[in-house]
Amino acid sequence: MITDNLYNKLNSYLPVEEMIKIKTAFKFANKAHRGQKRKSGHDFIVHPVEVAYHLARLELEPNVIVAGLLHDVIEDTNTTNKEIEKKFGIEVSKLVSSLTKLNITEDNIDEHVEKKNLRNFLVSMAEDVRVAIIKLADRLHNVETLQYLDKEKRQKIAKETLSIHAPIADKIGMNDFKWRLEDESFKYLMPNEFKLTSKLIKQKREEREIATKRMISQIEERLSTENISVSVSGRPKHLFSVHNKLQRYKQLGRNFSDIEDLIAIRIVVKNTKDCYLVLGVIHELWRPVTGSFDDYISSPKDNLYQSLHTVVINDQGQKIEFQIRTDAMHLYAEDGMASHWKYKNTLHDNNKDLYHDINWTQNLLEWETEIVEDSEYLESVNNDILSDKVIVNSPKNEVFTLPIGSTPLDYAYRLHTDLGHSCQAAFVNGVLVPLNKKLNNGDTVQIQKSDLDNGPSLDWLNENLGFIATANARNKVKSWFKKRERTENIKRGKDQILSNIRLSNIETSEININDFIDKDSFETFAYKVGTGEVNNEEIINLINQQQAQETVKKINSKSKNNEEKYDPISSIVVMGGKDFQNKIANCCEPVYGDEIVGYKLSSNEVIIHRIMCSQLRNRENTNRFLVAAWGHSKQLTPTKVMIEAYDRMGLIRDITDVVWGEKTNLHSINSSEDNQNGTCKIQLTVYTRDLGQIIRLLGKMEKTPGVYKVSRIE
Ligand code: MN
Repeated sequence: MITDNLYNKLNSYLPVEEMIKIKTAFKFANKAHRGQKRKSGHDFIVHPVEVAYHLARLELEPNVIVAGLLHDVIEDTNTTNKEIEKKFGIEVSKLVSSLTKLNITEDNIDEHVEKKNLRNFLVSMAEDVRVAIIKLADRLHNVETLQYLDKEKRQKIAKETLSIHAPIADKIGMNDFKWRLEDESFKYLMPNEFKLTSKLIKQKREEREIATKRMISQIEERLSTENISVSVSGRPKHLFSVHNKLQRYKQLGRNFSDIEDLIAIRIVVKNTKDCYLVLGVIHELWRPVTGSFDDYISSPKDNLYQSLHTVVINDQGQKIEFQIRTDAMHLYAEDGMASHWKYKNTLHDNNKDLYHDINWTQNLLEWETEIVEDSEYLESVNNDILSDKVIVNSPKNEVFTLPIGSTPLDYAYRLHTDLGHSCQAAFVNGVLVPLNKKLNNGDTVQIQKSDLDNGPSLDWLNENLGFIATANARNKVKSWFKKRERTENIKRGKDQILSNIRLSNIETSEININDFIDKDSFETFAYKVGTGEVNNEEIINLINQQQAQETVKKINSKSKNNEEKYDPISSIVVMGGKDFQNKIANCCEPVYGDEIVGYKLSSNEVIIHRIMCSQLRNRENTNRFLVAAWGHSKQLTPTKVMIEAYDRMGLIRDITDVVWGEKTNLHSINSSEDNQNGTCKIQLTVYTRDLGQIIRLLGKMEKTPGVYKVSRIE
């Protein structure tokens, strides 16, 4: 029977009398959908049964299971709401009618419907979270059967699931659903990446299996002496989240092997106190990785997820993540809001109070307002739902939510514009910190105001210095500067330009400031700098451009000179005298690199032969032989290098920096641009000591931003 799985699961947690209504609902739905088929060719009734099964896995109350069985009858059959109300009661009929409003058939997903659908979703969730839970179960079975749809529809549904359903599951803490929704969608949306990620994880898991098992038994042994009862399990990560992490690592230029939490060991204990005890035991057994510890028990995530996370290094030097939580936290971590609607609500410990505080309905209604205001509605909701947040406290214990990466300055501006402007110092958890310190979850932030009315610093706008992460704070700083007197801004701008020149190690006299400003007068430029309109990077680029031009000029004017000066013969060192005049022997004509020997001709004249020279064999007066070697100081060979790069300001300067950094001698430099492609070719000749130096040099050049090819040329 198609109901076997469903009824088995239901029997495991429901008393027999509750089953009657459910069996009636199945018969009712079966009759209503009779003759209808799914795209898979299966009878339609398979779908509501599977949806009900997903809900039964969560051990939800009977009304939710009934609504799951009936969720498509109004939409797809002649059944009316009245009939459902009469047969199954007002609660079930309300659930089913809300679900019907949310329904869109697989054929008519367009952008408009999608947006309307999302809005309905959010509102009905605010009214009754069970609607969202059933809808997510419905979507879960739909993505599990995506293989029967054509490619285009498959991709559309997978995309929609990733952008709407999975984030909503996340928001209400239904992590198990979220992972299933994501991985099913991921499989069809990016089949190649899906396969690759599965392979990588499998490999990693096998690699660590033995070590993980041994660690688990070590912990169990230790905890049994501490008299703490635990359940310990290894837990693989979910594919889509690993894939995302992989992408972030790629962007940062890091390796797959750097991902440390692919395998986590999860420890579930009876109470909160034991969580911290177990943490202590783990840190005693293995060294924790600095900065890897997260206390989501004292500062739960937005969706109220609670757990301790830590990463330790085991005896093999592998990084292993631990998650430590209580039973109740664990239940909530998997099923989130759905755990409230379990038939037997087991959240009967101290944590229960916390779950009542969930302000998620208010959150949803806030999103709803945002949606009305914003035409880019779906995107903004997505950002809001998906973007990571950091939660911090004021000294008075008020809670503020800021984007990840926010600093004390972002916090100060968030509290009050004037507090931002006059921010002088910040204390995080009582410790004085730099104003560009990134805030962490649970930090208590205190801002110290300056008594002087100096206003913000221009440095705060310098993105490289990382003082500000939010657009809100940035705009407030900019508008402060805009409101100053013009002369004040010009002076500030000049100071800023001069300090940049000093930082660039250029003699101020070498730079004619007016030269490197094309159109604007210097004052206009300084004004823009002084109000933060032109940033430091642009100033530095201008200076670099100017300096690069001078450098090229200087090098090329010297180069002829250099060429004449270079003379390997004069570099030869002969033992036994200082002022010998060295001459190359005509018979064997040694060249640079040959093994050589000197033959003293007179008191100040030495002929340099190759050691192998046959002429020397006849010479009997061995006193005249002198040890000779090519000099080290000028033992340099010219190397021509061709660099191909995307043209940008400061490129030549960066490349000459590399050459000087390697203490090599830059002999000449020429560049030609291809304006159409925005690329350029730079040819340079350098004198290098040895092959090692050449290789190092080329390697560094290749790493210069913009450069895509470096080669040695004849
Ligand atoms: Mn359905």
